[in-house]
Amino acid sequence: MDKRQKKKLKRSEKKKKTKAQAQQQQEQLKKQMNMFDRLPETCSACGQGFPKTREAHMSWKVVVRTEEQQVRLFCPACLEKASKLVEERDAAEQQTKEAP
Ligand SMILES: [Zn+2]
Repeated sequence: MDKRQKKKLKRSEKKKKTKAQAQQQQEQLKKQMNMFDRLPETCSACGQGFPKTREAHMSWKVVVRTEEQQVRLFCPACLEKASKLVEERDAAEQQTKEAP
């Protein structure tokens, strides 16, 4: 086998690898697409319908749980409520810590 043939062989091996990688990427993409198929049409907390506008896409939050294959959608109002709850809880925890 001369050097040129060896080089050719190496190149074809590389091609195989990139092909496998591309296939993997595509499969991952497919999985992600499936997840987006599961996107709910309403807020997961209050049930408000998701308006399919650009603004809504910017302000609503999508929470993806890959392990459970669950997609949750939260409207801005519920997001605010949730963050307030967390703040209140943090404040309460601090108060109990400060109490003797
Ligand atoms: Zn909501």
